[in-house]
Amino acid sequence: MQILIAGAGHGGLAAGAMLAKAGHSVTVVEQAAREQLGHDWEDRFTFSLLADALGVAESDLPREIWRDRGDCTFVSPNGQTHVDIHFDANSRQRVMWRKPLHRLLLEHAEACGVRFLFETQVTAPLTEGLRVTGLRTRAGDMAADLVIDAAGAFSPVRTGLPEALGIEKSPRRGDLFYARRVYFDRLPDAAAPEIPFEVYLRHAGEAGLSWFCTNPDSVDVLIGRIDPLTDAQFEAHLAQFRASHPWMGTRIVHGGQSGVIPVRRPLTRMTADGYAAVGDSAFMTTPMNGMGIDLSLRAGKLLAETVLAHPGCTAQDLWLYNRAFHRLYGGDTAKNAGLKSALLRLPAQDVDFLFAARVVESSDLAGGGQGVSVPALLGKLRRGMKKPSAFFAVVNGLMRGGRAAKLYKNAPETFSPAAIAQWDRSIARFDLPIESR
Ligand SMILES: Cc1cc2nc3c(=O)[nH]c(=O)nc-3n(C[C@H](O)[C@H](O)[C@H](O)COP(=O)(O)OP(=O)(O)OC[C@H]3O[C@@H](n4cnc5c(N)ncnc54)[C@H](O)[C@@H]3O)c2cc1C
Repeated sequence: MQILIAGAGHGGLAAGAMLAKAGHSVTVVEQAAREQLGHDWEDRFTFSLLADALGVAESDLPREIWRDRGDCTFVSPNGQTHVDIHFDANSRQRVMWRKPLHRLLLEHAEACGVRFLFETQVTAPLTEGLRVTGLRTRAGDMAADLVIDAAGAFSPVRTGLPEALGIEKSPRRGDLFYARRVYFDRLPDAAAPEIPFEVYLRHAGEAGLSWFCTNPDSVDVLIGRIDPLTDAQFEAHLAQFRASHPWMGTRIVHGGQSGVIPVRRPLTRMTADGYAAVGDSAFMTTPMNGMGIDLSLRAGKLLAETVLAHPGCTAQDLWLYNRAFHRLYGGDTAKNAGLKSALLRLPAQDVDFLFAARVVESSDLAGGGQGVSVPALLGKLRRGMKKPSAFFAVVNGLMRGGRAAKLYKNAPETFSPAAIAQWDRSIARFDLPIESR
């Protein structure tokens, strides 16, 4: 079988390696040059997933490419309440540099037989009726039995698909998080803060969040908003951090790049005849914390297993992957999206209240919101009832997310466009839209 992968995203590389190893012809078409792949920053993800994706045990990962991250504190919009999270040896967050991670995935894929076309931009899918038959690229048209879309949130493959497939193309306001991240040098002789990783909600009164992480050798600053950031905004926020964190130097030691993270529920429908999306192109992240590497790797494995078991790559075959992903993971992220939307819709002073009244606590935030259950929140009712509108807005978000999650986990068993369209509409009823500016 001829398989084309649009973009060298994590899930595409993981799936490609498994499929090439099984004897299929797999080519990745990537717009960047080989040495440009991967951001110059560290990411948190579940290292044990690399055992499946690479065949590398956690204990064999090169020590110089990862480190433990320190304890974390969430800061309320008015800066007055800090919710601290202390990790123990088992729960401590670990981060890995993205470039070596990408290199490991790429070299493993190559060793399994995947071919790479770098510096080649994909511009659109090739289609015949409702079947995807290949990719249109700057180097010409390429035919395939299966196209794996791993080209990220703005994938031109997804956005170029025929409308009749019913695959959502354009994210709405609040679905994406625009971030810029820079590591500066850390000035010597400055006292280390007690809690090194500070996360600021609604930083500077704007919709989004920022973080300031003091590392032994640098400070890692991320400014993120739900609307695109201008240079002036970014510089103004940096200046604020510099004033409050005098140990922040001016020399850039890593990063400096911008990126976009989907922070919404995943695509309900992410497959078609000859087409499957993985990772950010299908909006597979945990909305409350923007983590997408785990889900991308998991989806890549699931997709490869489905294709190996059902090599026809028809809409029916690939629906099995679509459905399995939602049963295992998509439902939980849809639940998380309900909470994220509810918090994003609240005025900043209501978020301040939720923090000050301990309606939101460290146990809720430690898991990126995954651990916030309706019963747990009801236990906070007494404190929350001092401001019922804010409290019930959060409960509403959780309940809507919960209803959507149930639907995600019970997608139609077999591929039926009418049943899928109906299921899709039922899920959309639980969305909490973010108003345009
Ligand atoms: C600032 C920031 C911090 C983050 N931190 C974390 C974290 O700590 N943990 C975590 O799990 N996730 C994190 N994420 C999210 C994470 O980056 C993604 O969710 C994850 O990389 C999955 O995305 P992907 O591999 O599907 O796609 P991407 O990483 O977006 O890769 C897509 C690839 O497709 C290529 N491409 C795009 N368009 C084309 C085209 N037209 N033709 C050819 N190639 C194309 C791109 O060059 C790229 O190589 C962060 C993201 C950002 C921006």
